[in-house]
Amino acid sequence: MTEEELTVEALHAWLQRFAADITSQADWLTELDSAIGDADHGTNMVRGTTAVIAKLDAGTPATVQDLLKSVGMTLVSTVGGASGSLYGTFFLEMGRNSPASGQLKAAEFEGAVRAGVDGVIARGHAGIGDKTMIDALEPATTVLAKSLANGTDLRGSIATAAAAASKGRDSTKPLVARKGRASYLGDRSAGHIDPGAASAAILVAALAASVEEGSTR
Ligand code: ADP
Ligand code: MG
Repeated sequence: MTEEELTVEALHAWLQRFAADITSQADWLTELDSAIGDADHGTNMVRGTTAVIAKLDAGTPATVQDLLKSVGMTLVSTVGGASGSLYGTFFLEMGRNSPASGQLKAAEFEGAVRAGVDGVIARGHAGIGDKTMIDALEPATTVLAKSLANGTDLRGSIATAAAAASKGRDSTKPLVARKGRASYLGDRSAGHIDPGAASAAILVAALAASVEEGSTR
């Protein structure tokens, strides 16, 4: 990639790293889900991200729009659980709001991510503080936009977004879940990090790491 755009290859590299990081942290994700859910988040995400990589390796779409839509459809059909349709929606909406070209400029990327997160919110009706993946995704998206508006380059802005996502993940620990399976536990959901917020922070961190690596290659 160049500093100010993400190519199809850069998105592919992001998703490869996401899949690898999900696989290496799957046990932890499942452990988090065993505390406040049904202990399947790690296996759900490994199944989905592995299928995404198999599909992309079999033939990488030529445009960012097609690549992101393909990722979304694969996640919807393979992850299962609440998170499958939510992550699927994220990528489908990102794709629907991306150009049919080989790269995303910084502003286009920001717009696509915003559309993706808005799609997750429209589908799951979670807001900040409900103890879901939104607690990581929403601040990451806000910070990305602010950082780009301040004139920071795409790589630096994505790094700041990753820091916001991990802070958002940690913020879920004391919260009582108001959405998803964990909400059935009521007050007993407090004291544990939300598994979907953890995987969402992995998603953003994987982007930061792959962009960092791509720029020094
Ligand atoms: P399931 O809860 O069906 O077993 P997973 O374990 O794969 O699915 O995913 C659980 C995660 O999904 C939660 O930790 C939470 O972050 C996310 N989630 C659940 N419901 C919602 C929702 N309505 N909005 C946003 N995220 C949600
Ligand atoms: Mg679960």
